[in-house]
Amino acid sequence: MIAQDEQIRVTLPDGSVRQYPKGSTGLDIATQISEGLARNVLAAKVNGVVQDATRPIDEDANVQLLTWNDSEGKATFWHSSAHLLAEALEALYPGVKFGIGPAIETGFYYDVDLNGQAFSQEDFKKVEDKMLELARQKQQYIRKPMSKADAIAYFEEKGDPYKLDLLDGLADGTITFYSQGDFTDLCRGPHIPNTGFIKAAKIMNVAGAYWRGNEKNKQLTRIYAVTYPKQKELDDYLYLLEEAKKRDHRKLGKELELFAFSEKVGQGLPLWLPKGTMLRERLENFLRKAQIRAGYSPVVTPHIGSKQLYVTSGHWEKYGEDSFQPIRTPDPNEEFLLKPMNCPHHCEIYKTKPRSYRDLPLRLAEFGTVYRYEQSGELHGLTRVRGFTQDDAHIFCRPDQVKDEFMKVIDLVLYVFRSLGFTDYSAQVSLRDPENKTKYIGSDDLWEKAEAAIIESAAEKGLPTVTELGEAAFYGPKLDFMVRDALGRKWQLGTIQVDYNLPNRFELEYIGADNQKHRPVMIHRAPFGSMERFIAILIENSAGNFPLWLSPDQIAILPISEKYEDYANELFFNLQEQDIRGFVDLRDEKIGRKIRDAEVNKVPFMLIVGEKEAADGKVSVRRKGQGDLGSMGIDEFVQLFQAEVNV
Ligand SMILES: [Zn+2]
Ligand SMILES: [Zn+2]
Repeated sequence: MIAQDEQIRVTLPDGSVRQYPKGSTGLDIATQISEGLARNVLAAKVNGVVQDATRPIDEDANVQLLTWNDSEGKATFWHSSAHLLAEALEALYPGVKFGIGPAIETGFYYDVDLNGQAFSQEDFKKVEDKMLELARQKQQYIRKPMSKADAIAYFEEKGDPYKLDLLDGLADGTITFYSQGDFTDLCRGPHIPNTGFIKAAKIMNVAGAYWRGNEKNKQLTRIYAVTYPKQKELDDYLYLLEEAKKRDHRKLGKELELFAFSEKVGQGLPLWLPKGTMLRERLENFLRKAQIRAGYSPVVTPHIGSKQLYVTSGHWEKYGEDSFQPIRTPDPNEEFLLKPMNCPHHCEIYKTKPRSYRDLPLRLAEFGTVYRYEQSGELHGLTRVRGFTQDDAHIFCRPDQVKDEFMKVIDLVLYVFRSLGFTDYSAQVSLRDPENKTKYIGSDDLWEKAEAAIIESAAEKGLPTVTELGEAAFYGPKLDFMVRDALGRKWQLGTIQVDYNLPNRFELEYIGADNQKHRPVMIHRAPFGSMERFIAILIENSAGNFPLWLSPDQIAILPISEKYEDYANELFFNLQEQDIRGFVDLRDEKIGRKIRDAEVNKVPFMLIVGEKEAADGKVSVRRKGQGDLGSMGIDEFVQLFQAEVNV
């Protein structure tokens, strides 16, 4: 019988406590729970620290078993795969030396010195095959603590200057080696139990990388790769990558002539071309209409504001250093800032007259263009820019109105999402850290009410949510919307944010029913986030095939030859009168070419006109994605068109 003191108490994530013999491993615990779990355990999180699932646990602990579905499990899998890649390279490239091999968001890389040997695309397959051959041997990753002297001796003998350089920075007593098969690496771990978990491998890319990121050092070869526990998952991933490339909004934005960037105008400052502007204005009008119906009042404020405005709001103190610097004028006492957000301006609008409790809520909406300094390396198409337009609004309300206002904003946001074809959405509710209430401003009572209001309104609206404690801003709880696009990618969109800070800083007041002064609550909300970001997501979600009502060109009229130009032009004017937009393709090209070009430009309807159509007053209709719809009268086409616009 095992003595009581040889047992440890293990608390699992569901709160259950079990006893295991001292020295049991994560894998042992998994095996006791189920064979299936044991087959999938990649690592164990013991008292918050991720370690090998094969490492003994010697004391009472909270234990979470990590699988592919946990980000830390995945990272362990990918980092372990970097060792496998190194093992394969060592087998194929004699004298190869190794730098570092971390997991990254989409797989892993290893920086290697190939000892002068070439490595290119043609070599990828050979390395992938070797990796899988070694993986099939189910080699265990074996951990071995080393003294610093022994570790140095090992890599001196092996002749690996990079590992010796890394060892230089490590303290004796903290050094471990990991071996699988014939390959040994300096590593603190953790790793998966054995290489057999790795069933699919793909080298993605090679690039140059200076050792330790210093250009004075030797340039190594960085080999990017990804691995999966199933071949099917790798295939799916590669398919998605291909699709994502085709849908990249930067590529489509250029092809469809929606927007452009110019070095001369400045990095991260998009130029909206006529077609993109039409699209954007349609979106704005759509939202403007919905907002006016929902009781918002549109306002317009300038693109700059005096520095004092942002000193009052606190933005200057918090972001001033890392932002666009103040704009000077001939008056040395004057300084202006490019507007980083619209809120302070809206607070000043609130203050233009005394407000009574009966005036609230006051909802001020603005398509406000703001400027934020982003490092040039951070800029990305329309999703990270330095100038963008928020579909912004601020709701000033009484504390007892917060829930009602939240419900209304959620209604509006969901209406917008559904109208634009986003059916898979969710939200994150960010609350205070209950352990550390002092870092938040605003009374306990207000916070509790607002948090309850957010949680209840999301639940009542059937919005799927995850709740994160400690993720609230210091000035109030918030709700962020997420949508999943056609490729299953998650995008963060707009936010609804409660704010107790700005009303204080701007000393906003209203006269209550009790005739006393009270402070309103401010709610920031922007369902799209920004027009730029939203249009980027819209492009990637639809692959440029926008809903008909948004398409920059809805129709292309394609005359078969110049003989039918008059009829085509007449038809065009007729349709324009009925608010249908597009163009007549008058180029001297074959009809097949005209159709192909219209397809490439993602024009929804092609109206082909030749002798028969001109004689009968008809059109031959092609719908992108559906093909030939046959010949029909003009009225019939308009009906068909309107039916689709008005869905
Ligand atoms: Zn490692
Ligand atoms: Zn705001």
